[in-house]
Amino acid sequence: MQQVHRQEKEQFKKLFQQEHIDRFEDRFHILEIFLQTEEHLTADELIEVLEKSGYRLSADFVRDTLRLMCRFGFASKNRFDNGVVRYEHFHLGQHHDHMICTKCKSIFEFRNDRLEDLQLQIAASRGFHMLQHRMEIYGICNDCLQDRTQAIPLGAAKQGERLMIKEITGGSGARMRLLTMGLRIGDQVEVITNQNRGQMVIAVDFKRFVLGKGLAEKILVGQVA
Ligand SMILES: [Zn+2]
Ligand SMILES: [Zn+2]
Ligand SMILES: [Zn+2]
Repeated sequence: MQQVHRQEKEQFKKLFQQEHIDRFEDRFHILEIFLQTEEHLTADELIEVLEKSGYRLSADFVRDTLRLMCRFGFASKNRFDNGVVRYEHFHLGQHHDHMICTKCKSIFEFRNDRLEDLQLQIAASRGFHMLQHRMEIYGICNDCLQDRTQAIPLGAAKQGERLMIKEITGGSGARMRLLTMGLRIGDQVEVITNQNRGQMVIAVDFKRFVLGKGLAEKILVGQVA
């Protein structure tokens, strides 16, 4: 990677000077600090790292430089899970894909040549000439999964999770309400949506249920046995 980064800096110097881009030295510092991280950073996070390294640059200037870095192919941006824009290195010929934990928001990189080939084949089989793709796997990372051995309130479960109802708290009132809805302990639940802090939609046996926040907190769920 050291070698690659050295080449990136040389090309950056060449391109930015050739294009007469202003404040070259400051922009070069931003590139250097950016290349020292191996993360998927927001503009604000990069500004923070720059400040820690002793570079006080205006947010607008850093954002502008990031924009240029994307335009000239030194960085690429991605909006994972409809969240904020994140930037990462863009190294020529070094494609990778991402796994994103919906719980702790960690981002993991991977590359699988069979998967890459398969995507090309699928596209080609439709007479489609693939130019690029974005492969993002959303789920729960290994660390977060360890925590899931404990029962959690259904309200805290993430979209797409499949869990089992372990316990219903909140007295007989809540239990009765759930029973009349047709939900009981041992049911396997799939979280269809759980975005706004209000209602959530779950599915049990191909049927959808809308639950209010209060009720969702009273249902304790855990890993499917
Ligand atoms: Zn890929
Ligand atoms: Zn996680
Ligand atoms: Zn990445």
